[in-house]
Amino acid sequence: MLKDTLIKLVSIPGPSGFEDACAAYIAEEIKPYVDEIKKDVMGNLICVKKGKGGKRIMLCGHMDQIGFMVTAIEKDGFLRVTNLGGVNPVNMQAQHVVMKSGAKGIVFTETGNDKAMFIDIGAENAEEAKKLASVGDWAVIDGVVTEMGNRISAPYMDDRCGCAVVLETMKNLKETDNEVVAVFTTQEEVGLRGATTAGFTVDPDMAIALDVTLAQDVPSVKKTAYVVSELGKGAAIKIMDRGIISHPSVVAAMKEAAEKAGIPYQMEVLTAGSTDVGAIHKGRSGVASGCISIPCRYVHAPCETIDLRDLQGAVDLLLNLL
Ligand SMILES: [Zn+2]
Repeated sequence: MLKDTLIKLVSIPGPSGFEDACAAYIAEEIKPYVDEIKKDVMGNLICVKKGKGGKRIMLCGHMDQIGFMVTAIEKDGFLRVTNLGGVNPVNMQAQHVVMKSGAKGIVFTETGNDKAMFIDIGAENAEEAKKLASVGDWAVIDGVVTEMGNRISAPYMDDRCGCAVVLETMKNLKETDNEVVAVFTTQEEVGLRGATTAGFTVDPDMAIALDVTLAQDVPSVKKTAYVVSELGKGAAIKIMDRGIISHPSVVAAMKEAAEKAGIPYQMEVLTAGSTDVGAIHKGRSGVASGCISIPCRYVHAPCETIDLRDLQGAVDLLLNLL
């Protein structure tokens, strides 16, 4: 079930550059539904379902999460950390974390300097701390999954919910003329790095990314005419973000598929941020690309919240498109 897959996926630690555990889980799950699975040098998991002479369509969701990396171990046992990806210390501080070693801790910021983050793993001195962590080790938020009716909240909906959509789509995809290549990418949060090489390897005729976008239907956002997306109004068809202007043919095909099948959708113009197709569409001699986005509140906070109907809508839209 889509929800169960999502809950499992958000619970596997895997910050940028360290996505192996997530890739191993997905490889096992997707195996019965594809003809070929390979992993490239960058750690991208590339899963091919052969077609019958049609086009090659690449789907991608990024496996990596934002998190922290240890830069130093203090005499008193605290770990100094830097960010892996777009960490906003205001959103991430005072949270429980899990370290590469499995040790649990708390991330906090120095009083009066909310950019200086440290992790407390309960060590009383450097010697104790070094048994649980080394310079270069990662940490991620060790958050809870909260189910609230149709909505569900957890750290790392970005972009494990995109991975869940791609996985669920491959599980339910019937034979098609098109070859469909599901790629679970690495290092998106540090600059679309995995997608850059995966796009070259796959060499698709069309690429579609699955990622979250900002849902701004919350009290903290001043209500203006412009809201990127809202929860529960359907998956969003991206027209533009800061990394791509979606190919008009891809946008048109998505709209047509949604309308034919009666799947609710919204249109997305995002004035900040980008995702994997931002790199892929500029590869080789260009790739017609677009994105189906899952509206998400509190992006890059530990309580990223989506609506399960939008998630299922994204799967339905893909199944009607491919
Ligand atoms: Zn993302």
